[in-house]
Amino acid sequence: MNFHRLLSSRLRGLELIEHFSFKRHTSIGCGGTASVCACPLNLGSAVALLKFLEEESIPHLFLGAGANVLPADGEYKGVVVRFPYFSDLFFSDGTIVAGAGVTGGALCRFARTRGIGGFEPFTGIPMTVGGGIVMNAGVKEGHFSDVTQKVAAFLDGKFEILSADECGFSEKRSLFQNGGAVLGAVFSAKERPREEIEKKTKDFRMRREHLPKGRSMGCCFVNPAGDSAGKLIDECGLKGYSSGKCYVSPLHGNFIINEGATARDIASLLEFVARTVKARKGVTLREEIRRLAFDT
Ligand SMILES: Cc1cc2nc3c(=O)[nH]c(=O)nc-3n(C[C@H](O)[C@H](O)[C@H](O)COP(=O)(O)OP(=O)(O)OC[C@H]3O[C@@H](n4cnc5c(N)ncnc54)[C@H](O)[C@@H]3O)c2cc1C
Repeated sequence: MNFHRLLSSRLRGLELIEHFSFKRHTSIGCGGTASVCACPLNLGSAVALLKFLEEESIPHLFLGAGANVLPADGEYKGVVVRFPYFSDLFFSDGTIVAGAGVTGGALCRFARTRGIGGFEPFTGIPMTVGGGIVMNAGVKEGHFSDVTQKVAAFLDGKFEILSADECGFSEKRSLFQNGGAVLGAVFSAKERPREEIEKKTKDFRMRREHLPKGRSMGCCFVNPAGDSAGKLIDECGLKGYSSGKCYVSPLHGNFIINEGATARDIASLLEFVARTVKARKGVTLREEIRRLAFDT
């Protein structure tokens, strides 16, 4: 089926990109193409699109900044939905309201320049608000779950506003990893002294300078309770371990760097690392990264 033709003939208010390249739209820089990418221009067209995809049983998946995903090789016969036009970012009743397509950088800057604290831990994390909510992104000093009050979502076939308690947030997890689209969020906006915000922002930014450079997905595995996935991988002697054109970063055991590998190669390396840690340390690592289009 030609999904591009189908969507353009049946729906309005969409930007459509045929033969969408995962390689060009993800930080890991691998994977094949999708039949079409659909970017709704407004809430009405988003809801109409999502209803249509569900009613017609058209395979689809969501993509934010593509910073925590491993997209499969080959052609995904389905629709990638992105929200770059959901870029509203404003104050309302002592809260910050942000669309799913707002970048992490824009959100942090908005809060910082208005003297709102709590967003400093997100400094430098590549993401959109949508992806940040889905992944409950953050560092140990703060996650999205700490600042989120409400989430606007398309869930179970309808538009809904969920309270933070209803979002199922836990360590790098949310309810939306089981399905549904995040369309925007309402964040608490607590005023803090500007010097404090500037100092924290600088500290978090400096901390990130030590992260490995190159094409990656950030941390590949969730830290097991009370432990560090990177440390366990290091203790298994896997830092620097290479498999073809991808390797475990010699700087940080939880990062895999891609230098032209296929998604299959990277997936095999992830599986090898998890198997080795299980065999040598007895610990089961859970993948933090989200595999896209692997099961089609
Ligand atoms: C160099 C580097 C450093 C990183 N450092 C950190 C860090 O310190 N802390 C941290 O938590 N993460 C980190 N990450 C991982 C990544 O930045 C976060 O997971 C971020 O939240 C991903 O956001 P995204 O918009 O790129 O989402 P994507 O990677 O595009 O998507 C992630 C998941 O969310 C889904 N999704 C995306 N948008 C939507 C939506 N609107 N509705 C429904 N589902 C959606 C996707 O289908 C996918 O399952 C790092 C990544 C890199 C490359």
